[in-house]
Amino acid sequence: MVKLRSWNTGDPERLNNTSHAEAQVAAWIGEDSGRNAKVVSLDLVVQKKSPCRMCVNTLRVLARSLKSREGGSAVTLTLSWSGSLHRDWKDNEGSLNAALSAAGWHPSGAKDAGAHFRVTRAK
Ligand SMILES: [Zn+2]
Repeated sequence: MVKLRSWNTGDPERLNNTSHAEAQVAAWIGEDSGRNAKVVSLDLVVQKKSPCRMCVNTLRVLARSLKSREGGSAVTLTLSWSGSLHRDWKDNEGSLNAALSAAGWHPSGAKDAGAHFRVTRAK
């Protein structure tokens, strides 16, 4: 299992998402495409804001390339996010989820910012 942490870089450009954290992840995984590590699943947790429309497109391309690289639909791709919806989705989480599904990802919805670190104690 590989854990990768990525973030937005400085100097955002208006018409592309190369500075966005999702694009950094896709580039990193893409650089691995000539190697023989098998990708079984990818669980992406986007913090502070949902992916924008351009990043969903990047994730669509990544999904397609991973599935063809792994010979079919054996790769499970899930995405959750915390914080607010990106303005591209006009306060409509359903349109983000539909776009993610169409891109080959299982949207697992908005989560509390600290949800992945919450500890539940036995009663
Ligand atoms: Zn983005």
